[in-house]
Amino acid sequence: MSDHRQDWEAALDSIEWDEVLEEVGEQLKTNLAAELRFRTYEELERASQFLGAGYYLTHLSDGTWAFWNEKNYVEEDVQRFQDPKAFIQYVIEQFQFNREQVESLIESMREARQMKRCIQCGFDFDPQDPVREELGIDGIYAEEGASEEFCSPQCAIENVVQEMKES
Ligand SMILES: [Zn+2]
Repeated sequence: MSDHRQDWEAALDSIEWDEVLEEVGEQLKTNLAAELRFRTYEELERASQFLGAGYYLTHLSDGTWAFWNEKNYVEEDVQRFQDPKAFIQYVIEQFQFNREQVESLIESMREARQMKRCIQCGFDFDPQDPVREELGIDGIYAEEGASEEFCSPQCAIENVVQEMKES
């Protein structure tokens, strides 16, 4: 019995708790990104407007607004709003925003870029993500003037390959 207990304690002692917690945290963030149809949390974060106190606002490709907190999204569900007015109303009620704060919120909403949905993989992505520009993959259009884009060169290639197979 005591041996068993010692095994346990030894096992617990050998665990790098910081690493475990970090891994769990990473997984939860990946889940959050998946819930909002982003490939990675980092992409989601870059695509979102930071509103302060851990809160972010994301303008999704389907036109809805997602309001989430980087710290308490596990306990609190991500809030989705169909229309911007409903969101502003919610914030005024929840956070007792004054006029000035509401005005700055509206400014942030204007700056929030609407996401696009990749026609190949179905993930949302920010067409103006600075990383895309760095990689030289901004402006991969499905066809001239099309409003839909691919999220990555991989998806563009996959789409071409698929079309070749189908024809
Ligand atoms: Zn894609």
